[in-house]
Amino acid sequence: MELCDLDAWTLSSMLQEGKTTSRRITESVLHRLEEREPVTNAFITVTRDLALAHADRADERIRSGKRRSPLDGIPVALKDNLCTRGTPTTCGSRILEGYVPPYDATAVQRILEAGCVPVGKTNLDEFAMGSSTENSAAGPSRNPHDPERVTGGSSGGSAAAVASGETIVALGSDTGGSVRQPAAYCGVCGIKPTYGRISRYGLVAFASSLDQIGCLGRTVKDCALVLNAVCGHDRKDSTSAAFPVPDFLEAVGRGLDGVRIGVPTEYFVEGLDAGIRARIEEALSAMERGGASVEEVSLPHTPYAVAAYYLIATAEASSNLARYDGVRYGLRANAQDGGAIQMYERTRSEGFCREVKRRILLGTYVLSAGYYDAYYLKAQSVRTLIKRDFDEVFRKVDCLVTPVSPCLPFRLGEKTEDPLTMYLVDIYTVSPNLAGLPAMSVPCGKVEGLPVGLQIIGKPFDEETVLSVAEGYGQAAEQD
Ligand code: GLN
Repeated sequence: MELCDLDAWTLSSMLQEGKTTSRRITESVLHRLEEREPVTNAFITVTRDLALAHADRADERIRSGKRRSPLDGIPVALKDNLCTRGTPTTCGSRILEGYVPPYDATAVQRILEAGCVPVGKTNLDEFAMGSSTENSAAGPSRNPHDPERVTGGSSGGSAAAVASGETIVALGSDTGGSVRQPAAYCGVCGIKPTYGRISRYGLVAFASSLDQIGCLGRTVKDCALVLNAVCGHDRKDSTSAAFPVPDFLEAVGRGLDGVRIGVPTEYFVEGLDAGIRARIEEALSAMERGGASVEEVSLPHTPYAVAAYYLIATAEASSNLARYDGVRYGLRANAQDGGAIQMYERTRSEGFCREVKRRILLGTYVLSAGYYDAYYLKAQSVRTLIKRDFDEVFRKVDCLVTPVSPCLPFRLGEKTEDPLTMYLVDIYTVSPNLAGLPAMSVPCGKVEGLPVGLQIIGKPFDEETVLSVAEGYGQAAEQD
């Protein structure tokens, strides 16, 4: 076991007790990164020198008793759709080639203020559109548990980096499952908090009403530590919530006693892998033995969630991505005689991948006159119904437990030719985004040697229950 294999909490106390230094931890992470990167392709940019400089400054603070937070000196990896001042931010797209943001995203600024050491920018599906990290101009990431398989997506690089010791914690983004599903596929923890909990300022927009930044780590506690650092109101994001932020670390230890868990029947239907179902059922039994009560509940509009998500997300994306015109950012295609229109056309044709273009077309279509009511407005109504389903069940239960994905990490290339099959992978993760709810993925054993994820969905702004149930589950499972 090397330093890079330990969790942030353990490393934090070692740092505090003077048993190691941030430089040693960072060197261990960078060494592992060099070793594994040829296989995982988890990073688009590695900021080696920056990391070492930050590590030395953290050591200086810790030595002089000026530790900024428990995360001071701990390596973090940042998804490459988070703006980082002075470090390229590509969103996994050719169209942002050469773009270096002049500012840090608020979440980045806060994690750095907490003392974290930035090791680099992680791979993702282009503009976070995908479920496998195969839609990246930087090539696909590969699952550390089996390099022939996908990491999940779109925060696949962040998840793979945490899983393989190429970082200790990471930030990702989650519009329809992009933190939780790769966390599940790579066997790590990942939480998407309530919409509004973390400022989206400086997160490159995909679908603004669904996007949330999320945290990945090896343990529930590590996710709580990162949440503590990045959550909270921000004037620069009008959708960020002016709610008080609790100490999430304190919530982690509350246990399962008396917690009422709901299991939505609609999530355990045809299409769910039998092995995954078995793991989730075992987990529910463990939670019952740990003191929770489990009851079946119904979320009747679940069958419409994927359709509603892919209408709303593409509509918002078509509008958000209109800004990449070759004028203001990154790539500009050569169009000597054709004038501006040809320049736009070529830049966008050459700059975006097929999936992104598909979504821009879909989104433009559903927003166009004549189709707006039939598709976009309908999808918005379904969104309201989905939200109401959750409101209803949360009168009876404290949280919901479901699978994260209906299938195991699939093989590279297996679903790329069939977008609909790829979209269906998101069946269990999109609803919390449509309803704005916090949701977390925690490891829940393996099937055929591949990790399985358990999803815990909470009430709005009740990340505390999500975290305490996640930790309680881990402890109950250990006792079995
Ligand atoms: N897989 C979903 C999609 O392709 C979700 C992506 C995300 O959460 N960013 O849209």
